[in-house]
Amino acid sequence: MKLTEDVGGVLFAVLAYLAWKAYAFYASMAAPILYFGPPGNRTAVYCAKEGQVYTGVEDEFATVPARATCFQATDNGTFAEIWQKREDVPEQLIGDVVELEGWVLPGLWDGHGHIVQYGMMEAGVKAYDKRRAAIIDAILEHLHKYPSRGTRENWIQGNGWDQAYFDGKMPTAGDLAVDARLKDLYIALFRVDVHCVWVSEAVLRLLGDPLPPSPPGGTIPTRGVFCDNAMDLVYEVMPEPTEEDVETYLTTAIPELHKVGLVGVMDAATARREIPVYKRLAETGRLGLRVYGMAECGVRNTFCDVQKEEIINRDGMFMLRAVKLFADGALGSWGAALLEPYEDSPTKGTMLVNETHLTKITAEWYAAHWQINIHAIGDRANRASLDAFEKAISLHPGVSGDRRLRIEHAQIIHPSDQRRFQTLGIIPSIQPTHATSDMAYAAIRLGDARLRHSAYRMKSFFPSPDAPAKLPPIFGSDFPVEPPSPLAGMHAAVTRCDPKDTIGNGCNRDELWDAERVSRLQALRGFGRNVGYGGWLEGFGVGRIVRGGWADWVVVDKDVLDEGVELRDVNVWGTYVGGEKRWDGRRENELFEGIREQRDTI
Ligand SMILES: [Zn+2]
Repeated sequence: MKLTEDVGGVLFAVLAYLAWKAYAFYASMAAPILYFGPPGNRTAVYCAKEGQVYTGVEDEFATVPARATCFQATDNGTFAEIWQKREDVPEQLIGDVVELEGWVLPGLWDGHGHIVQYGMMEAGVKAYDKRRAAIIDAILEHLHKYPSRGTRENWIQGNGWDQAYFDGKMPTAGDLAVDARLKDLYIALFRVDVHCVWVSEAVLRLLGDPLPPSPPGGTIPTRGVFCDNAMDLVYEVMPEPTEEDVETYLTTAIPELHKVGLVGVMDAATARREIPVYKRLAETGRLGLRVYGMAECGVRNTFCDVQKEEIINRDGMFMLRAVKLFADGALGSWGAALLEPYEDSPTKGTMLVNETHLTKITAEWYAAHWQINIHAIGDRANRASLDAFEKAISLHPGVSGDRRLRIEHAQIIHPSDQRRFQTLGIIPSIQPTHATSDMAYAAIRLGDARLRHSAYRMKSFFPSPDAPAKLPPIFGSDFPVEPPSPLAGMHAAVTRCDPKDTIGNGCNRDELWDAERVSRLQALRGFGRNVGYGGWLEGFGVGRIVRGGWADWVVVDKDVLDEGVELRDVNVWGTYVGGEKRWDGRRENELFEGIREQRDTI
């Protein structure tokens, strides 16, 4: 009898699980955004345990977090009342209370991510952490799933390779032809930092014989790999993603971003063709994630007529008022432009545009009242960006000084330039996980001294009582270059250790390195209110739980402000955007736990 009951229980759990999986699959086909559980009551009062709601409204230099217990979300997607204690909630509202189990944080933002590329990666070949043979297997598996791919019109695409897995040697087109089934297919795989693309022979044939020379600011290190500006040669023959493709990538990416607690993302290069798709999804209520775009012109580093597209969506779901420019490439592929040569190569890297041109286009966008966000990794690129901003400001004194000019990455900065961020009022937009993921090669590329005094600054960029004028840094992940989890980013910022490393190898313990660690509160602000400031969104309450602000919040299972809590072990149990529940991690967890328990009893 006991046995039958157990078997019945197991059967029920398995069937329930399969039904749920089938529903999730169906929902993913039918509707672009997954909803778990019943729709939330948008006028409800939400309460956590006493003081377990972090509101983010404390002063910049406060070391004690501002906390509350209950809050109210109205049916227009904004916060209304916030209560310190449960007893403060008026009697007539008590019946409405929804209990939140865990700790509540203001909705988390990623200040620099690539949503379409992330969706493309999720829907494409994953070459991360793989040797060549494993990548070929992954392509074959992908082809098995999508047999129509690999044609001239529909290439096989993927992301994530790193020559570190090929004994440090760049791959070739020939490597993609080792399996006869792949020989004539069109394949393009992006390097983990998206600064190089590795293509098949079929793609090379489109480029002509002999191959065209590399344009300035690009390299073609092997037959089959194109880096930085040389990637344009491949882009010219690559089939343009259709609006339908873009929609598929977005709706693939967004539920994954909700899972890690993100309510908004600053999209670090929004292509022209993506803009109508974002607008459509936002207007029909299907976006579900707040997106602040940085427009990228059809031809990089130009002044294009995208400014006609400036938009601030009524509900705050899609906004576009920034432009993205690119000063240099990435450190991993020796593309970052340095003032002095690399330690492991005679090159100084490459500027993607020369200083004169960068200054000219920066001034043009500045005069057009746009926010300008320049990608700059190397110290030469950072200096050129600061010079360009300085010149633009002096050329156009009539333009509002509140342009919130940003340097994306701000990774290697000569000590004499570090203070110019403050004097010029430039916002550094930093990815804390880059510091810990790059650790293996950063010292080899830069040498110890330069790594110590110029690279991966974090704490010294934050305003402090003796330097209150600094603009607080924005934190992000640069996904899909790094995983999108803001909690992993906070872990990296607070510990300066690699979140993926469980044995402590990825931890460069020394005084100078540790001095740039930030506090937990600073890390939270970096992924919250500082991002809001970086896009004029502070008035909408980004990064705060505040009356009248957007009702965006996250429920996590541990207190992220408790020094004893390992940030990388924190789970997201709920993500709410505009008062609507977009992710229910609790429910998924319970289902898996149920199955696990049932299995254990067999
Ligand atoms: Zn990026």
